[in-house]
Amino acid sequence: MTKLLIATHNKGKIAEFAHMLADLQVEWLGLADVGITAEVDETGDTFAANAWLKAEAYAQQTGLITLADDSGLVVDALNGAPGVYTARYGGAHLNHQQRYEFLLANLAAVPPAQRTARFRCVIAVAGPDGRHLLEADGVCEGHIALGPMGEFGFGYDPVFMPVGQDGRTMAQLPPAAKHPISHRGRALAQLVAPLRELLQTA
Ligand code: IMP
Repeated sequence: MTKLLIATHNKGKIAEFAHMLADLQVEWLGLADVGITAEVDETGDTFAANAWLKAEAYAQQTGLITLADDSGLVVDALNGAPGVYTARYGGAHLNHQQRYEFLLANLAAVPPAQRTARFRCVIAVAGPDGRHLLEADGVCEGHIALGPMGEFGFGYDPVFMPVGQDGRTMAQLPPAAKHPISHRGRALAQLVAPLRELLQTA
C-alpha cells in the first residue's frame, strides 16, 4: 500500500486527518513514525506559503508523498489577526488555554455581532522529491464566543462558534460533527478524489 506522510506534530490534527482519510487505500504515517522531531520554520506570510514550506521540506527529508497543512484564525475586529501567527499568538510560552484567553482579553470590548471570524486551512501535497502535486483551501466562518465552552477538539475550538451550530462552539461538537464543517475538513474534502487517483498511480 502507498505510504503518505501526514506532516504535523499536532496530535489533534493527526487524529482529524486519519479520521478523514480512513476510506483511502493508504498507509499514513505521522512525523513521529518517521523519527522527525525538528520543526520547519513557518516563515511564509500566507497559509499557502507555510503549507508548501512544510510539505516540500518533509517530503525531501523522507522521500514520501507528504501532506502538510497550515491553518489559523482570522478575526475581523483584529484586522485579520492572528492569521498566520495563530500558533504563536500571545507568545511562544503559552499553552492552548492561555492563548485563547489572550484572544478573549483582546476582544473584551467587542460586542457579539462584531466578533466575526473564520478558520482557514491550506493543505499542500508534495511528491517524494518535494514537487508540488495538490493544493486545497478550506474556510469555516463563525464568531468568537464571550467565554470558552466545550471539551472536544483542540486549540481555539472552545472559543469558536461556527455558523449554523446554534451558538455551540467547535469544542461542543463531537468529531463526526466538526469534520464536515471545519476548515480542515472542507480543504481535505476537495482533495479526497485527486488524492485517491494520485495514490493509485504512485
Ligand atoms: P499551524 O500548526 O501552523 O497550522 O497552526 C495552527 C494554529 O491554529 C494552532 O494554534 C491551532 O491551535 C489553531 N488551529 C488550527 N486548526 C484549528 C482547529 O480546528 N481548532 C482549533 N484551533 C485550530
